Amino acid sequence: MRIAVTGISYEALLRSTVPTTTMEVQRGEEMIGLGLWMIRGIEERFAEETDVELVPILWGTALPGGGFTREIYEQIRDEAVAGLKAAGPLDGVVVVNHGAMEVRGMDANPDTDFLDHVAAAVGKDVPIALSLDLHGQVTQGMIDRISALSVLRTAPHRDDQSTGYRAADQLLHILRTGTKQHIARVSVPMLLPGEFCVTTASPAREIYGSLPEYDAVEGMAEANLLVGFAWNDKPWISASCIGQSWQSPEQALEMATKLARRVWSERGNFTLSMEHAEVAEGLDLAATVTEAPLFLSDSGDNTTAGAAGYSTGVLQAILDRPGLKDVVVAGITAPETVEACLAAGIGATVEIELGAEHQPADGRTRKVTATVEAGGRELKPSGFQPYLRRGGAWARVRIGHVLATFHDASIGITTPAHYEMMGIHPTEHAVYVVKLGYLHPQLEDIAARFILLLSDGASNLDVTRLDYTQLNRPAYPLDRGMEWDVSPADIATTPAEKATA
Ligand SMILES: [Zn+2]
Repeated sequence: MRIAVTGISYEALLRSTVPTTTMEVQRGEEMIGLGLWMIRGIEERFAEETDVELVPILWGTALPGGGFTREIYEQIRDEAVAGLKAAGPLDGVVVVNHGAMEVRGMDANPDTDFLDHVAAAVGKDVPIALSLDLHGQVTQGMIDRISALSVLRTAPHRDDQSTGYRAADQLLHILRTGTKQHIARVSVPMLLPGEFCVTTASPAREIYGSLPEYDAVEGMAEANLLVGFAWNDKPWISASCIGQSWQSPEQALEMATKLARRVWSERGNFTLSMEHAEVAEGLDLAATVTEAPLFLSDSGDNTTAGAAGYSTGVLQAILDRPGLKDVVVAGITAPETVEACLAAGIGATVEIELGAEHQPADGRTRKVTATVEAGGRELKPSGFQPYLRRGGAWARVRIGHVLATFHDASIGITTPAHYEMMGIHPTEHAVYVVKLGYLHPQLEDIAARFILLLSDGASNLDVTRLDYTQLNRPAYPLDRGMEWDVSPADIATTPAEKATA
């Protein structure tokens, strides 16, 4: 059997002003053996079979940003389509997407659009398995095209490999037995920022922890839960509760409904479980903390949720607190500052105006004197790491008690390797400020303590402070007193002709 693997995995934050104009693309055999996100699990499952030929087409990804430009999305999508057509007769396809892709100037849901194009390229009788992040949505159009689905079950994400494995396993079951899967989605009108749904804390821990019990029900394939991508103002934004049954459409819908009612009943309990504070209060607290390293996240400017990374608000607040010793503030987007530092050269003293580049109009600016300690035209990752993209030009500067890094484009500082690439020890400094929400797993593993700072910005954790015009209303918590139960408008199911064909 010949099974293709392709996809575009991207999370867009449309409130960010900076569109994503490029994609990091692995093509053909380059995709194999790299430990790529999700794909490593698909490789693992197919390697257990002697008669499966994995046909890698391409996989595109980018750091989350303000939505793809139409040009880059369509270019890579069309390249994937051409690759699928050129690969000749295929028995199945696994699509590795995220579920929160957005394309500027495109009204349609882009993950759905991508699946439409894949289905058209391979023919409607070729089953497609889909793997997704849990911070996305599932639409009726996606269910129209897919035969199987697997979704991450941990946040911070630690299970991409097993998720890819499950998607591949379901597809093999379909191909070997001719069985069809019935998929039902119930959308729950809730806006749940990821920080409210970490699976190491209640209630997400218990809900996600119970999914294997749904899977184990006689006749079931899987149950899945996507908490959604709360910040985008689109009609498809919601939580998606999924039932997948080998047995019947009724069972799929029953399980999705049960899960949806449970998620809704917990709505008041999805809160920030990690230690958190307003910026000023959090920095006062940080000055008293003795555990090291202490990680602080600038959550309103979370580049891994798609924010632009321009804000210097937290850096400026730290400069006002000399009591905070030995602080690293990494990952600020400031292309002109980078150019000025590189032009001055290593060891040079430069004047930098913090906040002069793209800070919100009401943001403070501040002139500082800095010493350029390191920098270059490119950041080279050592091996593949999830979320790591090839970084462009950067500079590391010393400003008094702070070591700061500036970048020509937004970057997600999510692993110790990111620090090491810039000559910064990832654990020996006292305080590290990152532009994240929750800490990503590899940083969570090295942090002695973590405090999330409730800074303002595009990824504001209080969604009631944001404007929504396209979102379906009512939606919780914007319409706080609303009642809800499953209604036909919330339900999407496998079309009858697809389930029986
Ligand atoms: Zn995610």
